[in-house]
Amino acid sequence: MQQKNTPGWAENDTACCWHPYSAFPSANPVYPVKSADGFSITLADNRVLIDGMSSWWCAIHGYNVPALNQAVSTQLDAMAHIMFGGLTHEPAANLADKLVAITPPGLDSVFFTDSGSVAVEVALKMAIQYWQAREKPHKQQFIALRKAYHGDTFGAMSVCDPITGMHSLFNEVLPENYFIPSPACRFNQPCETQDILELRQTLEKHHQTIAALILEPIVQGAGGMWFYSADFLKQAHALCHEYQVLLIADEIATGFGRSGKLFACDHASISPDIMCVGKALTGGYITLAATLSSTNISQTISSAPPGVFMHGPTFMANPLACRVALASIDLLLASPWQAIIKHIEKQLINGLAPCRELDAVAEVRVLGAIGVVEMLQPVDMTVIQARFVEAGVWIRPFGKLVYLMPPYIISDQALQKLCRAIYLTLSRK
Ligand SMILES: *Cc1c(COP(=O)(O)O)cnc(C)c1O
Repeated sequence: MQQKNTPGWAENDTACCWHPYSAFPSANPVYPVKSADGFSITLADNRVLIDGMSSWWCAIHGYNVPALNQAVSTQLDAMAHIMFGGLTHEPAANLADKLVAITPPGLDSVFFTDSGSVAVEVALKMAIQYWQAREKPHKQQFIALRKAYHGDTFGAMSVCDPITGMHSLFNEVLPENYFIPSPACRFNQPCETQDILELRQTLEKHHQTIAALILEPIVQGAGGMWFYSADFLKQAHALCHEYQVLLIADEIATGFGRSGKLFACDHASISPDIMCVGKALTGGYITLAATLSSTNISQTISSAPPGVFMHGPTFMANPLACRVALASIDLLLASPWQAIIKHIEKQLINGLAPCRELDAVAEVRVLGAIGVVEMLQPVDMTVIQARFVEAGVWIRPFGKLVYLMPPYIISDQALQKLCRAIYLTLSRK
């Protein structure tokens, strides 16, 4: 759809930019954005959209946040970047200290990376190096969940759902891992013997070659927007311990309050051996992620040849990103975030309830600041995206899933408009 007031630079996008999960040139329209502020996105043609996506879970405080802008510009005056090999700086040191303090107990070391996918790669490499150091070099495989999403790099892809993760395309080069069903037991429900059986059996049979179980705790995000029982997580944690397999919690989507707890592991009061955070870490300002691990893991890796962990990104612990992450966490913790998320949850439950009556809708589910309408059939992206924009909202469905994860600063009125837009758009034939 060509807009009347399309800026000249948008033609350069059409000519040169390859967008996420898109054809080139893009088959669907991409909307030129001029600016964003609070929960509003202003398009180049001056239309204003209410943001329902937080730029893929990240912008929890919304856009153009004074405290975060200030953090970036203060740091900019000191230094934009400095290598992390052999050097360190205050933002990284204090952010690491803060992450250790707020994540589940026992996660004591922080390895900074530049994106979520790389944080997952690092977690997988840590698990493998750990077992090498323990002289169990055969433990190199992973157990993952169906419907999982852990990122787009090769290691991360190898633990994504084999079907939606497109394993068939890269079959020859992807490491082979074990997959167990996505937990059928829902959030707030018990986990029956049956629900955990396949995990138990897989561990029983293969634990000698398995380094770790990797999962998104409680909320499976981009692979299906599914919320599962904290009891499953608790039992999976115990089984890992029993079979000497590490537990990697990928909190890249769930971290920093989105599910109603600061971290989704907190729903089950468990501490994983390794944990990945990203996305909302910097409040959506600058890409940054981190892989935390227990002292047992960091010390074991460091005590055996080669005596170091074999990873080190160029932009590791970028000072601008670390500084804004600190400011974002401070902003979150200084707010009544639990009450805010509860309030958003309540509004999502009420606001999306009418969608249940629609024939095309399979299910509506809400947890924390995540509202999901699952359709019976995949939506037509080109049509639905344009309708949402016409309705003045930014909502980007995928497959059968139409969902909201608004910035925590969303107003009641704006959130109602988002819910209403979903209902009206899905009601249209
Ligand atoms: C987004 C996401 C990733 C990948 O993060 P990127 O920053 O996009 O590389 C990994 N795991 C989960 C659970 C995610 O939601």
